[in-house]
Amino acid sequence: MVFNTRAAFEEFKSVFPNKVITSDTKSEYQAAVAIPCNRQKTGSKFAIRTTGHNPNAGFSSADETAIVLDIRQLQSKELGSDGVARVGSGNTWGEVYTWLQGHNLSAIGGRDHNVGLGGLLLGGGLGASPNMHGLGVDGVKNFEVLLADGTLINANAKENTDLLRALKGGGPNFGIVTRFDLETHPLIKVKYEINLYKLEDHVEINKATAAVQEAMESDPKIGLFTNFNNGFAAVGLLYANTPHERPAVFAPFYHLQSLISAALPSTDGALLSLAQAMGHAQESKKRAISTVTTRVSQDLYECAYKAWAEVCKILPTDCVLHYTIQPFGKAAAQEGEDRGGNIMGHQGVAKCWWVFTCEWPESDSDDIVAQKAVATMAESVEVLAKEKGLLLEFKPMGFATGSQNVLGSYGAANLKQMREVAAKYDPEGLFQRSQYGGFLLRDTI
Ligand SMILES: Cc1cc2nc3c(=O)[nH]c(=O)nc-3n(C[C@H](O)[C@H](O)[C@H](O)COP(=O)(O)OP(=O)(O)OC[C@H]3O[C@@H](n4cnc5c(N)ncnc54)[C@H](O)[C@@H]3O)c2cc1C
Repeated sequence: MVFNTRAAFEEFKSVFPNKVITSDTKSEYQAAVAIPCNRQKTGSKFAIRTTGHNPNAGFSSADETAIVLDIRQLQSKELGSDGVARVGSGNTWGEVYTWLQGHNLSAIGGRDHNVGLGGLLLGGGLGASPNMHGLGVDGVKNFEVLLADGTLINANAKENTDLLRALKGGGPNFGIVTRFDLETHPLIKVKYEINLYKLEDHVEINKATAAVQEAMESDPKIGLFTNFNNGFAAVGLLYANTPHERPAVFAPFYHLQSLISAALPSTDGALLSLAQAMGHAQESKKRAISTVTTRVSQDLYECAYKAWAEVCKILPTDCVLHYTIQPFGKAAAQEGEDRGGNIMGHQGVAKCWWVFTCEWPESDSDDIVAQKAVATMAESVEVLAKEKGLLLEFKPMGFATGSQNVLGSYGAANLKQMREVAAKYDPEGLFQRSQYGGFLLRDTI
């Protein structure tokens, strides 16, 4: 198929004067939201982009054969008398948290203020304390969606309920979400700290990680992440509703002798300050990711640590391979069910969403080595978990590499349902055929 992308640019330029940038005028493309108008004529491919945080090539980026629809300008924010926050999908979590905090409210979203609503919510969205209110997308009460035929519709508990369910984890397969209507909560205060420990103490760190995860099953206010990194382990200890003292539940970490420093000392804050503190520097680095979901197991964590140490030994020094254990408890899945359910097929067991990340300089040619490193880590943990009966099928979209079978990991019935919904709302298959990349149904078998 030949894509007449120039024709699409010209058409965009006439509709959005001064908003379209082409490769021969500037280094990046930008356009306001619109389905590639008159697609029969132009046949162009397109990629949808909120912030471009997803590192998979072609997901929110494209080469000169396609157009990028940058929706950052969808910045609306409106608080309904029903307490629902109606927010344009171009907002970042920092922008939403700042605005909501002004109203003494919170919504459930990302832990980094720079990340956008779109990709995070359509892939689930893991927040600070997932066991408390479920995933970000579980709190979406209505999606306003631009369909392939140019109509704008709503998907909620009353209208287009099949689309509502499919969008709760189904990614960019059905339309462009232009607005998310979010459940709000009275301002969620959080006590948080991030401690750095010596890697030599990995056995105790893994033991403490598993112990805190066990405690999370009976106390949903707990949040945790354990990140094994270049020369240190960074552990985030989060507790909603800011108790007076440092929460006793984190004692297994407080007792560790290997503390190097508090990268972030114990702070009484809210989701906004936490997301600002956790905001990654916007460095120009390349990044590759991969993911696996397993049950909780100190033994597995130890084996994974050893596998990681081996892979690190053969990496070039400027490639940093690190991994994070992200807990998702039984209660998190139940919170989603209580809000009408999602399409992700979570099993009601305590689990970890692992994310393996490699970062390396923009200028470097280590792409293949770095990508292989994350793939090796994901495969190793998958094999180890399978051997120990701890592997779970699910692959969280936000942490997966492009070739992982995310949609298939939701289970056969959910995959079938997503295909039916896509066929109903996009009968010509524009979002499958013309989207440049993404976790798309066209790639599932
Ligand atoms: C530093 C960092 C921190 C992170 N923290 C978290 C976290 O705390 N919790 C978590 O769950 N995940 C987290 N993630 C993962 C994150 O959720 C994904 O990278 C997500 O895809 C980013 O969404 P985005 O819209 O900002 O990015 P983009 O790259 O712009 O978009 C990602 C994907 O979503 C599609 N998309 C975006 N907007 C829309 C829309 N409105 N309609 C249809 N399709 C759309 C794009 O086409 C693309 O396929 C983090 C990632 C990074 C790099």
